[in-house]
Amino acid sequence: AEMKDLSVEDKVTVKSKHLDVLSEYKKSTRKRSANFVVIGHVDAGKSTLMGRLLADQGAIDQRTLDRYRREAEKIGKGSFALAWVLDQGSEERARGVTIDIATNQFETEKTAFTIVDAPGHRDFVPNMIAGASQADFAVLVIDSSVGKFESGLKGQTKEHALLVRSMGVQKIVVAVNKMDTVQWDHGRFEEIEQQISAFLTAAGFQQNNISFVPCSGVLGDNISRRTENPHASWYTGRTLIEELETSEPYTHALEKPLRMTIGDVFRGGVQNPLSISGRIDAGSLQMGDQILTLPSGETATVRSLEVDGEPSDWAVAGQNVVLNIANIDPIHLRSGDVVCRPSSPISTISSFTAKVLAFEHLMPMQVDVHRGRLHVPGRISKLVASLDKSSGAVIKKRPKIVGPGVVVRVVVEMDQAVPLEAPTRIVLRAGGSTVAAGLLE
Ligand code: GDP
Repeated sequence: AEMKDLSVEDKVTVKSKHLDVLSEYKKSTRKRSANFVVIGHVDAGKSTLMGRLLADQGAIDQRTLDRYRREAEKIGKGSFALAWVLDQGSEERARGVTIDIATNQFETEKTAFTIVDAPGHRDFVPNMIAGASQADFAVLVIDSSVGKFESGLKGQTKEHALLVRSMGVQKIVVAVNKMDTVQWDHGRFEEIEQQISAFLTAAGFQQNNISFVPCSGVLGDNISRRTENPHASWYTGRTLIEELETSEPYTHALEKPLRMTIGDVFRGGVQNPLSISGRIDAGSLQMGDQILTLPSGETATVRSLEVDGEPSDWAVAGQNVVLNIANIDPIHLRSGDVVCRPSSPISTISSFTAKVLAFEHLMPMQVDVHRGRLHVPGRISKLVASLDKSSGAVIKKRPKIVGPGVVVRVVVEMDQAVPLEAPTRIVLRAGGSTVAAGLLE
């Protein structure tokens, strides 16, 4: 079908049910949504572990799983079958296997989980930034096998953990994986627990927001079911899935004005010619609502919506939604744009102060500002002060330059005005690498 120009006569009218969304939410039995990001060293077993979770929770059917297994065995990579369950992007799929069903969502009795950054993408850091900025919590996968743990700690593990913490992720679940390779040695687990604990608290995580689960992704031990291995009888704590269930959402801002960042824009559907997807950061909305999209400043009408893939009349903060919208020209919509209400818009700004963790040397310099999938060129115009990682107290005012690992308050100016408001997770990149990440104040 051809897209027609919007004219007044074509305006779609949508009847609102005028629901009191918050009371609908309170009485609903809808599962809560939780997003998490998976971090850890390459080969720690992230994909396998997530594949196991998806398979165990029935997010993927046995026939498909069997097919992956056969295909994986055919090319001599039997153990990779589980990892293929994840939606890993075309690069992973190009390794000789066709995957037609892949997902990053699974459900438990109480919660609809979304893995916001499927591990395995080559272009990892930008993906992780988009993921981390939507995460309620992080799952850190550690390879417990001898030698691997030690080298992993020096590598990406540290960088990823610091990145998610500096972006405001408060809770972290540590999967001490591949315990089968160390015969479920209790001492080994304790040693890892101690070292990771020390490192995570130094990175600014609070002790009571860190938990550890000894597990084996490949065998499925302590993932969705408790291991029956007699060597593991010392562990009486939660399985990984039980641990995920205890995590609180990052934001509860249901009563605040509507805020949603557009993840993707879809056009051309027969029933729904134009849709946007994303997670509601704050507030709520319902069918028939008028929304304002920024920075375009154009309004649109919500024709219908879906929450976690199910049709719904309303949605609240924390939920992943698809909004089918009308009365707007799609050229005004881009991923990274923000949706709010005409009555309480986000102001667009061209400079801000942020508390960031430096990954490289920072000084007044050119940077790209990333927020979710939005990015704009700009520059760090001033280093205000270096700060203590956990207390936030000022260590040094007006430093000329700070090194990697330092938390610093900076003033950033952008080449164009964009809709931004605190608290927002942002990342600063320069020359293709992440130089800092943190929270806009
Ligand atoms: P990723 O790079 O972190 O996503 O790691 P993968 O999931 O691709 O796993 C890397 C390798 O470790 C693969 O050969 C897996 O089969 C293997 N592996 C993953 N989990 C386990 C585990 O629990 N035990 C053992 N022994 N091997 C595992």
